Formats: sequence, structure tokens, C-alpha cells
Amino acid sequence: MQPGGAAGIKKTTVGLSQIIGDLRAGVPVAVSLAPSFPAAFSPLPPVAVFQILREAGFVSVEETVSVLPGIIEERKRLARNGLGFYIANSCPVVVSLVNRKYPHLRPHIFPGLSPMLSHAALLKKRLGNSTKVLFIGLCGAKKKEAVANPGLVDYVLTFREVKPWFEERYRAARQAHSLSLHGWRLDPSLNGVRQAVLATAASGRQAVEAVLDRLPVDPPGPFLELLNCPGGCLGGPGIPDKLGLAERRKTVEQYVAWIEERQAREVCASEKANSA
Ligand code: SF4
Repeated sequence: MQPGGAAGIKKTTVGLSQIIGDLRAGVPVAVSLAPSFPAAFSPLPPVAVFQILREAGFVSVEETVSVLPGIIEERKRLARNGLGFYIANSCPVVVSLVNRKYPHLRPHIFPGLSPMLSHAALLKKRLGNSTKVLFIGLCGAKKKEAVANPGLVDYVLTFREVKPWFEERYRAARQAHSLSLHGWRLDPSLNGVRQAVLATAASGRQAVEAVLDRLPVDPPGPFLELLNCPGGCLGGPGIPDKLGLAERRKTVEQYVAWIEERQAREVCASEKANSA
């Protein structure tokens, strides 16, 4: 079944405490973090989010964007050889809208797995099928998408649902001086896709429908990232704080800049060591 799934599917109801209970009982659980997590957990440093999750016992913590390079290649290949243009399936609300209101455009919905499902499939392939996958993201629509595509994402929680737990763990780690923000290596080669997710063909229901109304004539590009929330997922309902959209974007950009600076420092240190 494609992301978005059938109408009327129940939301998942598992909360974080039950998932932590699973971890304590020895169930391996891996985490996939939606790309806007630096804004969602602000002012917590993004790397603290990785550390807190690993210390809680999650067997793997990765950003969902790690699958985007592969998906982008597949999108390009399809756009060249397929129907000319495709509508991304990242936003289940848009997929559902196309299915319901624009049935003539259904063949143009990207036929592969959405980034969330694709990452879950990859994690299960790498860590084994007994590993459960928790996606932490922005909206209840992702819960429906997970339920509609069984066997991939086991749990979905929104940033809003988990942020109090993170804040508590962060406070405790700071008091215990156990927070180490230096032990994490974040893949700098993903910075392009970390930034790319900030760009959309259209965001907000009105703008999305304006694009869909015109199609299939004159598509604005071979691959259309249409997102239901104004400003894209960064404007989604699961971000708990009061940061405006511009500040949320800035937080993600600062995260990318931090990874780049860190890589530059590492290259510099290794060159120094080689020339010593
Ligand atoms: S654009 Fe909004 S509804 Fe769509 S996936 Fe992002 S947060 Fe969810």
C-alpha cells in the first residue's frame, strides 16, 4: 500500500513509556529522526539528541535523510525514463489529497517507498527483522502511514510527544556532567540533503492545490516536493516550541554549518598529524 494509506486507519497509540519498556525488556529498537529534529528539540544541541537516545538503550539512531541520496537517484532515473514528472510521497496528506481529489494524477505519485518507510526498511535489513523501528517526526499523518504499511515502522511519535522526556534527560545529563557532545560523527556528505529538505515546490494546502490544479500540464519540474504544511515539515504541527518558521530554518542551517565546521577541523587536524 502506498504512503497515506486508506482513509480511516487508526493512529498508533503506543507511547514513549511503552517503547522504553520494550527496550528494558531487551527488544532492540532503532530510531529514525525526521530532518527537522534540530528545530524541534531546540535549544537542545542536536548531538545531545543522539546521545540521549543511545544512552536510553536505542540500538541505532540515524537521521531519516540518510536514505535520501538513494531516493533522489531513483527519482531522477524515473523522471528521465518514466512519465515525465513525479509527485513526491514524503507527505502522506498530499498523497491522500491526490488519491482523493486528483485521481488522474495518481500514476504520477512516486512509486517507491517514502523516505520514512525506506529508512525503516534499510534499518531492518541491516539490524535484522526483529529490530523495531521508531520514527520521530512531525505529524499524526505519519502514524497513519506507518499503520497502512505494516512491517516497516513499528512506532511513530511526534517531537511534541517526546520533547518533555528529552528535556528531562538533558537536564539530568547536565547535572551529572555526563553529556559528551564530541563523541558523535555525523556524516557531512548528507549536508546537501539536510539542506535540500528545506526546499519545496509548494507548501501549504492552497499552494499545493494551485500546483495540482495545473497538472499534468506544465509541471514546474520533473520532481515535485509538495508539502501540506505552510513552510513544509518545518511548519508541521509536531514542533512544540514557539520558534517562527525563519528561526526553525536557521536552526537546521546552523546544524549543517556545525557539521561542516567540525569536518573542516578534523581534516585540518589530520593534515597536521600527517605533516608532523
Ligand atoms: S508537510 Fe505537514 S502533514 Fe506533510 S509530512 Fe510534513 S508535517 Fe506532516
